[in-house]
Amino acid sequence: MFKNYDELISFVNDRKIRIIDFKVVTLDGKWRHLSIPSTRLNEKIFTDGIGFDGSSYGYAAIEASDMIFIPDVATAFVDPFCEVPTLSMIADIYETNGKNRRFEGDPRYIAKKAQEHLKSLDIAEEYVIGPEFEFYLFDHISYEVKGNHQEVLIDSIEAPWNSNNKEYNQGYKMPFQRGYHAALPYDITNDIRSEMCLKLEEMGVPVKYHHHEVGAAGQLEIEVELGEMLTMADRTLLSKYIIKNTALLHGKTATFMPKPIFGEAGSGMHVHMLLKKDGKNIFYDKDGYSNLSKTALYFIGGILKHAPSLLAFTNPSTNSYKRLVPGFEAPVSICFGTSNRSSVIRIPGYIKDSQKTRFEFRPSDGTCNPYIAYSAMLMAGIDGMVNKIDPRDEGYGPYDVNVFELPKDDRDKIKALPKNFEEALNALFNDKEYLLQGGVFTEDFIKNWIEYKYNNEIMKVLPVPTPLEYQLYFDA
Ligand code: GLU
Ligand code: MG
Ligand code: MG
Repeated sequence: MFKNYDELISFVNDRKIRIIDFKVVTLDGKWRHLSIPSTRLNEKIFTDGIGFDGSSYGYAAIEASDMIFIPDVATAFVDPFCEVPTLSMIADIYETNGKNRRFEGDPRYIAKKAQEHLKSLDIAEEYVIGPEFEFYLFDHISYEVKGNHQEVLIDSIEAPWNSNNKEYNQGYKMPFQRGYHAALPYDITNDIRSEMCLKLEEMGVPVKYHHHEVGAAGQLEIEVELGEMLTMADRTLLSKYIIKNTALLHGKTATFMPKPIFGEAGSGMHVHMLLKKDGKNIFYDKDGYSNLSKTALYFIGGILKHAPSLLAFTNPSTNSYKRLVPGFEAPVSICFGTSNRSSVIRIPGYIKDSQKTRFEFRPSDGTCNPYIAYSAMLMAGIDGMVNKIDPRDEGYGPYDVNVFELPKDDRDKIKALPKNFEEALNALFNDKEYLLQGGVFTEDFIKNWIEYKYNNEIMKVLPVPTPLEYQLYFDA
């Protein structure tokens, strides 16, 4: 929003801003924040930064827990959810030892390094991407005070899919699994989505469209226009912030959990992508397969080759793999195809504009840290381009049919995505060279990621008996 400190100060004075707020991204891709009265605003904050404990953000080992953040004035926005006039900014993370040394593991820095690496190879100047946000909106939240913690419980969820008669629903309840583009009066959250989109536009995030998604239990989708990677990662967190807080104003809860309800559609965060050189889309070739250039196909080749390890960043939760199952338009097979929703890479069949020719990566979901996930996708694509990995020579397709409907023998020839998070982390452990190129990711960062996710998530979920286990084994 601002080019420099002076612009910031004039805005603060003109708009009578009272609080300056700083948002810092955690390792798992969420914002934490810290605020100061605007009277305390001074230029030193933008050179010396503000100290914080990085270990609480999932980053550093205890011995290196002291870190500083320095806000980026270009990211400033007036926070629409604060009653006191508040200007928020996203911050970069720095190390305290040695002046102004950026922390190698800062997700925003990783994204910046990935962009610079792309430029240094002289392949393209811009990695342009467009994420799609799918999420569920649940009703009725109640708060229960337990000890010192206030816990949010989902009390009751509007549950039409539980109806005994799934085909002939009563009233205007959304029919099971048939919410896609549903119109009013079924589409009861239409106005909430519109409100979210207007706020997004006001905050500088151009919106492509919004609609109800397949899931009858309130699954919604908002798509934003494409933009350059680092900006889009910032916008991803801003979009989720706006979606969740607008939901709360209506007494509802928005969740980006990949598979919140068994038997219903999961929520993905597909990412569309293309590369620009000299302002031109280099993924376009009118004679290529589905109008894709060789460069685009090599990019796809890299993504498919590294898909198992890539998922450790794009699908980094135990819940992610409950979505990646057949039958819900979520990908399970490592292949590509036009208009194919069962594949890792889908080339939209409806694009006419050569400047917009692109494909989407379908596995990713809302549990990812967008800076890290987008950077890893780019690094896999770069590896494909540098090593000229043609996905057609590697048995990745194209498959222009629903993979789930192929005869079993044919289906078995296609490699499957990791079945659980541990498989993906193991794949990352064994396949990380492509991420280390140009110093974009560091060995330390990857090691910390694997350990953090393994100890804090996989090992926490593993020992917990599930309801289905009672059904299967109680009568042992
Ligand atoms: N909800 C589906 C998923 O889990 C995607 C549906 C679509 O293609 O938009 O990826
Ligand atoms: Mg969708
Ligand atoms: Mg999509």
